[in-house]
Amino acid sequence: MQTHILGYPRIGSKRELKKACEQYWSGKIVLEELLAVGRTICNHNWNIQKEAGIDLIPCNDFSYYDQVLDMSLIVGAVPSRYHEVVLKKNNTELDLYFAMARGYQKDGLDITAMEMTKWFDTNYHYIVPEFYKNQQFKLSSDKIFNEFAGARQAGINAKPVIIGPVSYLLLGKEKEEGFEKLDLAENLLPVYIEILTRLQEQGAEWIQLDEPFLALDLTEKAKQTYQMVYAEIRKKFPKLKLIIATYFDGLKDNRSLAVSLPVEVLHIDLVRNPEQLEEILKIIPENLSLSLGLVDGRNIWKNDYEKSLRFITKAIEKLGSERVFIAPSCSLLHSPCDLDAETALNPEIKNWLAFAKQKVKEVVTLKALAAGTDNENSLTDFEDNKKAVEERKTSSLIHNDQVKQRAQAVTKEDTQRKNTFKIRKEEQQKTLQLPLFPTTTIGSFPQTAEVRSWRAQFKKGELTAVQYDALLKEETQRTIRWQEDIGIDVLVHGEFERNDMVEYFGEQLEGFTFTKNGWVQSYGSRCVKPPVIFGDVSRPATMTVYWSQYAQSQTEKWVKGMLTGPVTILQWSFVRDDQPRSETCKQIALAIRDEVVDLEKAGIRIIQIDEPAIREGLPLRRTDWQNYLKWAVEAFRISASGVEDATQIHTHMCYSEFNDIIENIAAMDADVITIECSRSQMELLNAFADFQYPNEIGPGVYDIHSPRVPSKDEMVELLRKAQHVIPASQLWVNPDCGLKTRHWEETEKALIAMVAAAKEASVEYAVC
Ligand code: GLN
Ligand code: ZN
Repeated sequence: MQTHILGYPRIGSKRELKKACEQYWSGKIVLEELLAVGRTICNHNWNIQKEAGIDLIPCNDFSYYDQVLDMSLIVGAVPSRYHEVVLKKNNTELDLYFAMARGYQKDGLDITAMEMTKWFDTNYHYIVPEFYKNQQFKLSSDKIFNEFAGARQAGINAKPVIIGPVSYLLLGKEKEEGFEKLDLAENLLPVYIEILTRLQEQGAEWIQLDEPFLALDLTEKAKQTYQMVYAEIRKKFPKLKLIIATYFDGLKDNRSLAVSLPVEVLHIDLVRNPEQLEEILKIIPENLSLSLGLVDGRNIWKNDYEKSLRFITKAIEKLGSERVFIAPSCSLLHSPCDLDAETALNPEIKNWLAFAKQKVKEVVTLKALAAGTDNENSLTDFEDNKKAVEERKTSSLIHNDQVKQRAQAVTKEDTQRKNTFKIRKEEQQKTLQLPLFPTTTIGSFPQTAEVRSWRAQFKKGELTAVQYDALLKEETQRTIRWQEDIGIDVLVHGEFERNDMVEYFGEQLEGFTFTKNGWVQSYGSRCVKPPVIFGDVSRPATMTVYWSQYAQSQTEKWVKGMLTGPVTILQWSFVRDDQPRSETCKQIALAIRDEVVDLEKAGIRIIQIDEPAIREGLPLRRTDWQNYLKWAVEAFRISASGVEDATQIHTHMCYSEFNDIIENIAAMDADVITIECSRSQMELLNAFADFQYPNEIGPGVYDIHSPRVPSKDEMVELLRKAQHVIPASQLWVNPDCGLKTRHWEETEKALIAMVAAAKEASVEYAVC
């Protein structure tokens, strides 16, 4: 029996990588300093795993931005628009890499970033590879070899982790017509072979190839490509020990394909799909070992040892212990680093949890228990574990009968606005009197270092509540004034009081708790600290009325109330696993509904309920979609339906491909939806056009994820394109997401240009 880890969090337990990257980008540190931080994190992670006694420790799970972008750089899939970046003096490989991730706007160049999208059903985002017809690949980076050598120096013969060639292609996007990305497999394969050759020469024994697509619906062509690619790799490397890692769902109908691939070990996710073990054991060939993904890499609850041991025993019975591997379900990238750092958690709740470092230990303990090599330590661990699991089932912290009863009593009426959109639209126009192409933003304005320092000081007690409040009011007021000055139509208060759009609400809801350092990477240097939903959810008091009301009192214009929707709160939290997610979501929806009604009572006439995460919650397999969409859309409607017709409900979504769920988005029945679509050049809008989306839409006219300032003409052009497919009377003008991560300087320029673009579009419209 062997233990292994699919990947370890790379941000550093104190977000060292985030800080270093951001300092590097702003020129505060030089390359060498950034690289040193990277090396320190790798060594730290390796040591944790080594000391815990993990048998196969990964390398190349580290990344300065994203593991898919790493792969693109390694195989030389660098779109030609970036070639100039390398020619600029002093620019290194890493500068090129960051240019691809973030865009490049200096040295006389102005290059947009590559597209970014969600990593399967997680809240991690990867940079989408761009593919062209007959594209050639070429080994172009030594990162993976350097990392392997680094592990060697630390005394570890690491298991390099790379994205398998088929999944790599499937993660990408064809940028021209006339070919399919899988056609590139033959061109790509030689580079993979070169990578493996070099790793083998360096002394690698094990290689992990991540092929998560094996757990998704596959086309015939993809299946054939899998067979072709792995047969070739096997032929070239008879001795290298290969692990294919699948995760996030079960192999299901790809089962026989997966077990037929000529590798040493197949890793399966038994957290997401425990049923598959039995089926796979029935058909597994004699030369294949099985890696059991038992410890949840996506959630923070302690493993239930008794339950896991039943799986391990079953596998050993059939395979013998040599052919059994024990692992987390997926990379631990999606878990926070270290529970030991949480000193302020309620000890009862803390005792139910395990973060990456603890999960590593769980994996090792499971092996010891299963192998019967348990010493006293693992036996005590076992008893403690049993007790913790039992206590969680019965704890009075978790259950609130009133909440359960209210959720059960929800009726159809609770999920419906009073009248149809057509009627509402008239009512709303009467009240709101908005111009054609109304301009707005998505909610947040730059959270400057100053604003963040106020919050930190307030939390530390260095600022009193009164002082903190006054500072935030000043910032809010200034932002209101500024929006008025540049002529935005629907204002926002700026969200300066919020740390994070989910955390802010979770902090005010019952049933949630928070960690101090439970950071998880979202994209690049962006980290989130998901709340922990451990019990029944309710809202003891209003959450946003104070700030919305204050902002509205400062202006004659409309201020949009700003809430996070139930699905997004659910999706971006660590959710209790002792009841269906749909049930937890409904409880949150009722809490948000109360807030919406209270905002209306306080005189707020436009209320945005953000649901950026609704699509990422989609199950990976099509057959599971309808069930999810039904309860997710219903939850949104519960939250939005408590108000009068004249109150305008907005929703906002980002990084979504809407085509396949457009019907469900329409079923949410928001009066206005603002969407991200500038990075994919209005492509998404076509989905709305084809469906003849009935309500109003604000297609993002510029990408806020890049520091690049868009020109007015660029946005006018996008608005023209939008009008080709959506009637002008339905269009809003806004950036594609919140401005929280941007600086004021670029935000000011961009929004001034945006307002000018909207003006120009209305003039053009009037003329024709
Ligand atoms: N209202 C939020 C903000 O502006 C929305 C963020 C998001 O969509 N992720 O920050
Ligand atoms: Zn957004």
